[in-house]
Amino acid sequence: MIVDMHVHLFPTQEVGKQIVTEIQETYGAGYHSYGTPDEYLADMARAGIDYGVMVSFAPDHQLKNTNFWTTAITRPKKSGPAAYPMLIPFVSVSPTMKGRTPVEELEFRLKWGMRGVKIHPIAQGFAPDDERMWPVYQWLVARNLPILTHSGINVVENEQTDLARPRRWLPALKDFPSLRLILAHMGGGFWDEAIDIVRTYPQVMLDTAIALTAVELRNKNWLDDTGAVEMIRAVGADHVLFGSDYPWIDPAGDVARIRSLPLTDGEIRLILGENAARILRLAG
Ligand SMILES: [Zn+2]
Repeated sequence: MIVDMHVHLFPTQEVGKQIVTEIQETYGAGYHSYGTPDEYLADMARAGIDYGVMVSFAPDHQLKNTNFWTTAITRPKKSGPAAYPMLIPFVSVSPTMKGRTPVEELEFRLKWGMRGVKIHPIAQGFAPDDERMWPVYQWLVARNLPILTHSGINVVENEQTDLARPRRWLPALKDFPSLRLILAHMGGGFWDEAIDIVRTYPQVMLDTAIALTAVELRNKNWLDDTGAVEMIRAVGADHVLFGSDYPWIDPAGDVARIRSLPLTDGEIRLILGENAARILRLAG
């Protein structure tokens, strides 16, 4: 089984195009598609991916709409199956969101089938150690649900990078030591901080998005083959989840790169899907 743990999708090509071109103009990041569900479905088929986890987030004013859309397309309809049953919905909250409190929003979206939370400290403008997030972490621990966070450098390193450093999770983990945290991008350049956290809190996992991409980025948040194997073995392959960061990356290339790394077949199976299937309780 292959599970892509890190997917961003947009309702229409127009919306997707606006987002990827704006990020390209701001940071120079290339992209693979406009990120509509149908484009992703075609890319999933090409890459042999069984499930994709939508890690949706948005600025406060679009947060509830984004959460609505993410759960609406993955939720079984009254008249039949969901439009996209192969997509797993993660929703987002922020301490400054309007209308509902973060916990009210999570309660509401749980009824619509959400399977976890995604936050992006840099894009959403708050740090993981903001204690206004404590009720969210407590809610997640009580339900044994995961939270996936952007971690490390966000395309370029700047003064905001500190918000997303793995170490900014230490106060939350101290108070919620069983929080099922997933650090995206394997720590995004802060490899040692990510390793330390996984060793201290063994339920914490890392996703491979960007860090292990087949696109040779040759920057601080990308690992060459030697670095990739060292990082995987430092935390153990049972702590690593394949993620692509679609639509910025073509998942087929990343799956092929992970398969080509000098790891055991068992390690590769864990990374590509078995770990995600276990933590998300997916049917094989
Ligand atoms: Zn992402």
